[in-house]
Amino acid sequence: MEDREMAYRLAGVILRIDETVFPDNHISRVELILRPPEDERHWVAYHYGKRIPEHYDVFVPGLYDWLRKQLEVDEGKGIAHLAMMESATDEAPSFTEDELLVAIAAHEVRHRLQRLEKVTLFTPKTTEPAFLGWAIQKLGHRGQEFDAKVIGFLAAREWRLGHTSAEDMAMVIRMKPKRLR
Ligand SMILES: [Zn+2]
Repeated sequence: MEDREMAYRLAGVILRIDETVFPDNHISRVELILRPPEDERHWVAYHYGKRIPEHYDVFVPGLYDWLRKQLEVDEGKGIAHLAMMESATDEAPSFTEDELLVAIAAHEVRHRLQRLEKVTLFTPKTTEPAFLGWAIQKLGHRGQEFDAKVIGFLAAREWRLGHTSAEDMAMVIRMKPKRLR
C-alpha cells in the first residue's frame, strides 16, 4: 500500500513539473511497473524509444523502502545534505520526503530536456555551490547524469526555500550553468 501511494505521489509530481516545462508537448503518462527494477539505482526513468511513445517509468514494489533509504545520512547519501547547505561548513539538514520526491522528479524531467533541447550541461566546474559539484563527481556521475543530479538537488533546495510552484520548478529545470572560474 505504501509503495503504491508513493508511486502515485511521485507520478503526480513528475507530471506536474513536466507539464510546466513542456506546456505544448507534455507527457501525460507515467507507467507504474509492478515489479522491482533490475538495477537498484533506477527506480524511476524517463523512457523513450522508436516504437513506444515517450513516458516515465516508476517501479512500484519496494519503492517506499528505497525512498526511505535515500533519506538516510550514511551510505554515501550525505550528498543530499550537502545540497541543502549554504557553505561547506554549515550544519547539514537532510531532505524531507517532499524534497526528495521533487529532486527525483526534476532529475527525470531534466533528462527529457537534455534529449529534446540543446542544453548546456552542468559540469563539476560550473556547479554552484562548488562543494556540491565536487560531491556529485565523487560519486562517479558524469555527463548527462551529473547534470541531472545537479538539477535534482537544486530543485529540492528551491523547494526548501519556499519556492514550490510548478513554475519555480520549471525554472530550475531550465537553468543554465554560469561560467565560473
Ligand atoms: Zn538520471
